[in-house]
Amino acid sequence: MDVEFDQKHLWHPYTNLNQPTPVQAVDRAEGVYLYLQDGTRVIDAMSSWWCCIHGYNHPVLNQAVTEQLGKMSHVMFGGLTHRPAIELGKKLLEITDESLDAVFFADSGSVAVEVAMKMAAQYCFEQGETEKKQFITFAKGYHGDTFGAMSVCDPVTGMHHKFNKLLNKHIFIDSPQCGFNDAWQDQCLDEFKCVLKQHHDKTIAVIFEPIVQGAGGMNFYSPEYLKEVRHLCDQYDVLLIFDEIATGFGRTGKLFAYEHAAVVPDILCLGKALTGGYMTLSAVLCNQKVAKGISTNFMHGPTFMANPLACAVALASINLLLESNWQARIESMAKQMTSELGELIGLPHVKDVRVLGAIAVVELFSDNNCDWQAFQSQTAAEGVWVRPFMNMIYIMPPFIIEPSELTHITKTLTKIIKRLPC
Ligand SMILES: *Cc1c(COP(=O)(O)O)cnc(C)c1O
Repeated sequence: MDVEFDQKHLWHPYTNLNQPTPVQAVDRAEGVYLYLQDGTRVIDAMSSWWCCIHGYNHPVLNQAVTEQLGKMSHVMFGGLTHRPAIELGKKLLEITDESLDAVFFADSGSVAVEVAMKMAAQYCFEQGETEKKQFITFAKGYHGDTFGAMSVCDPVTGMHHKFNKLLNKHIFIDSPQCGFNDAWQDQCLDEFKCVLKQHHDKTIAVIFEPIVQGAGGMNFYSPEYLKEVRHLCDQYDVLLIFDEIATGFGRTGKLFAYEHAAVVPDILCLGKALTGGYMTLSAVLCNQKVAKGISTNFMHGPTFMANPLACAVALASINLLLESNWQARIESMAKQMTSELGELIGLPHVKDVRVLGAIAVVELFSDNNCDWQAFQSQTAAEGVWVRPFMNMIYIMPPFIIEPSELTHITKTLTKIIKRLPC
């Protein structure tokens, strides 16, 4: 493989071409393993950024793609439809709350967020709420890299501060401070309550990631918070958008994170694990209120909308998940990660170790002096692929991982984290 060409000419996520970040060359992948060009293999503890919940090269998913490939890989969705889109749409409405009633297929998570924001805005404008022009969101949030999505990412940790002056200004409130298992305290909600009371007549929607704030800070917060937010949004008649692009499809121990709180958003964004990591696809679901409230054309229509290959593999991935004993698996992954990472608690440089569902986070007090590049090479040499960011080492392995493989990840991380200088 011409990695030299790659380093000179190919951009990778969040890098520049003047000082290219070193890359590992992957030849193929199977189960939880990435097989590298140098003949070694690493366990993918990241599930390729939340996506590959069933692992790689899965026969059932391969078959779904191959079968669809023999029929048609793509056809425009403007004026045409097809079985994969219809069956996937039905399935998504079946497995989400019964109030969700309509589906918009988009290309990626970021685009789903754009679509959700446009949908909410058009709904408001058509209700005569033409004064509305902003969103309320939370610090430590991450919603993607396109302009609309960037504008609701944390302005500091959200990676997009360089573009701040080009972004529409929305309202940020502190990230939820009450942890997932903490006893609920009403004051956690004070700021949100106050901001919504003051700004509701200008607010199109509240948008945030339910239960787990992902790439903006790996914060796990109380379901009570969601309940109260839903209640207040109803009270002030403000739409609620949940971005479940990272949390959807079992990752937090429930099929969707909003189930922890038994509340439902008006608009729901799905992506990442939707296709089991096979292809890029996202979906925006909304309730009848929003769908029926939009009576002029909704002007969004990606070229690859509802791509049949992606829809077919998504449907197969969801069925595979539902037919597996995913809840028990994730519960036992949570138990195992909690106990095996437990010995890191109390180390002078470790601030917190937390686990929710199939996600584990080791948060350090600071990332000063941490060389994550070196950290990654060390873990890769031990057969584990991770990608720490800020002051956090986090893992979300495929659900099919064997206990012994998971132990290999936690043992490797524990050993290397103990040695960290920071
Ligand atoms: C990854 C992510 C996105 C963006 O999805 P892309 O497919 O990378 O555009 C949006 N929201 C959340 C919560 C995510 O984790």
